[in-house]
Amino acid sequence: MKYIDPHIHMVSRTTDDYQRMAQSGCVAVTEPAFWAGFDRSSVQGFFDYYRQLTEYEPRRAAQFGIRHFSWLCINPKEADDPGFAREVIAIIPDFLERENVLGIGEIGLNKNTRNELIILEEQIALAEKHNQLVLVHTPHLEDKLKGTRLIMDALAASKIEPGRVLIDHVEEHTVGEVLDRGFWAGMTLYPDTKVTPQRATDIIEMYGHERIWMNSAGDWGCSDPLAVPKARLEMARRGHAQTLIDKVTFDNPLTFLSQSPNFQLDE
Ligand SMILES: [Zn+2]
Repeated sequence: MKYIDPHIHMVSRTTDDYQRMAQSGCVAVTEPAFWAGFDRSSVQGFFDYYRQLTEYEPRRAAQFGIRHFSWLCINPKEADDPGFAREVIAIIPDFLERENVLGIGEIGLNKNTRNELIILEEQIALAEKHNQLVLVHTPHLEDKLKGTRLIMDALAASKIEPGRVLIDHVEEHTVGEVLDRGFWAGMTLYPDTKVTPQRATDIIEMYGHERIWMNSAGDWGCSDPLAVPKARLEMARRGHAQTLIDKVTFDNPLTFLSQSPNFQLDE
């Protein structure tokens, strides 16, 4: 069995995690640029982070036969100062040419502020200009539905096709609208809070298995880099066919990500 974890922050994880993921069947990860657990104090801090995502993590992953890809942006948590955010955005185009970069992400909203929205729109424009895929972060707060709608409206105002955008962190009350508007939906699995492997399986049973994937979103906080194989086990326990399990944890990510010419798996 093999699977892809399309959203995990490996810079925050140990090398042992790569080994355990490989042992569980992980063949590829994609890592969106996000908050590192602290606010960076300079543009140079982002420059170094993008180098980590495009140079060092692919090598660390390769030791275990895992392909590593990345997404670049300034995340919404650090995008509330437009002047600073624009200085960071200005260094991104050079990195888009690196061979493991799939697109712009994870952009979106955190507290749904006016400034966050302005920078979101400017990064959507960046993706449009450079013909990049987009990976979207939706707020974890009580404003998730409102934030998800604001983001979808901003995307709809661009020329980017919804089929080239994945909206992550969907839950029961947002997944229907995301799929109805033609976007891809990602379910972020967490051990206790938010979407668990059980709830993700419920959502697949309710909303089907087209244009949907699941990921661990493993990062510096409480999270589980083996969440995807655990969800595979949960689906199997409920009697779902292996082809369906493979579809949502391997085939679907492969289909979406392969829209970027940079996404190539071995063999
Ligand atoms: Zn993330």
